[in-house]
Amino acid sequence: MAYKHWAIGFSGGKDSSTVLSVVIWLIETGRVKAPESLTVLMSDTRLEMPPLFATAQKILQEVRDRGHKAQLVQPTLDDRFFVYMFGRGVPPPSNTFRWCTPQLKIEPMVGALKALRDHYGQKFLMLTGVRIGESAARDARIAVSCGKNNSECGQGWFQESTPEAVADTLAPILHWRLCQVWDWLTGLVPEGYDHGFSTKLIASVYGQDEDLETHARTGCIACNLASRDVALENIIARPQWRYLAPLLELRPLYAELKKPHNRLRKDGTETRRDGSLVSNPCRMGPLTFEARLWALDRVLDIQARARVDLINAEEEARIRELIALQTWPRGWDGTEPLASLPFDNVFPDGSKQPNLI
Ligand code: SF4
Repeated sequence: MAYKHWAIGFSGGKDSSTVLSVVIWLIETGRVKAPESLTVLMSDTRLEMPPLFATAQKILQEVRDRGHKAQLVQPTLDDRFFVYMFGRGVPPPSNTFRWCTPQLKIEPMVGALKALRDHYGQKFLMLTGVRIGESAARDARIAVSCGKNNSECGQGWFQESTPEAVADTLAPILHWRLCQVWDWLTGLVPEGYDHGFSTKLIASVYGQDEDLETHARTGCIACNLASRDVALENIIARPQWRYLAPLLELRPLYAELKKPHNRLRKDGTETRRDGSLVSNPCRMGPLTFEARLWALDRVLDIQARARVDLINAEEEARIRELIALQTWPRGWDGTEPLASLPFDNVFPDGSKQPNLI
């Protein structure tokens, strides 16, 4: 066997749960020769959907009980979602500014893989849950986007971003269709490999077991890159998880933070190293301190009402410390004008459109 040590990039969603249960089943039934070690690395963004996260914890314990290794992988304190946003002032992620996936999932996972490689002294085989599924015939490219094929956020990135010196990647369900994933999770998974029916719970979160809306994409709670948070809507449609309803207030909060009155703007003079103007000289940037403190209070209130842990005491203290230290993202120092103030628009060629108000 080319690789003595395997790892699985797991996040508790449907694709990585499928890979995990398929691989363990293949090993334990002798269909595939067992590696010397199998380590399940769970990417914990601290924004995991509570029922899925609880299920994932259960699955990790079952993995350990079966003699394999399981490890939670979190971003460093300053890189966590709310610390980065409210402490450093970086605006909420969006489809045009997707800082979250590399920072919350990929970098911590690559760091954990490097530590494993160093521990075992050799390169790993990293198994991911990436699928190209239905689009395989017309699009052989790995889906990095988590909106594609209802893919699970992060899996395509693990596949493409894992450095070759650390691990090679393999996607065992690359050509599985979505329906095959559901068939496996809801019925085909052999008894004993269904993690005490927890794979079926995953299906229910996606709305696969009742008349709830299907095709939810899972990832972080209130992912700002999805057009709707169908997974959260599916969850709170169930009486036992209705208490999570305050989490629906997060996406409107992010939308509010994106508005000009909560942000600074470049004044039209920003240049590149060669002295030419940047492509968007009046771009909007970070969140003001007032906006950050307001939003911090709102999130603390939401988490209290939803009885979840979005910002813990250590993270809150670090956010307040970074604000007290007047921390801004790289390239900003807080002297920039408020984005809602009238301004003369400057174009990359230096021409100006005067403010006529
Ligand atoms: S689920 Fe959404 S918020 Fe979370 S890392 Fe992926 S794109 Fe970003």
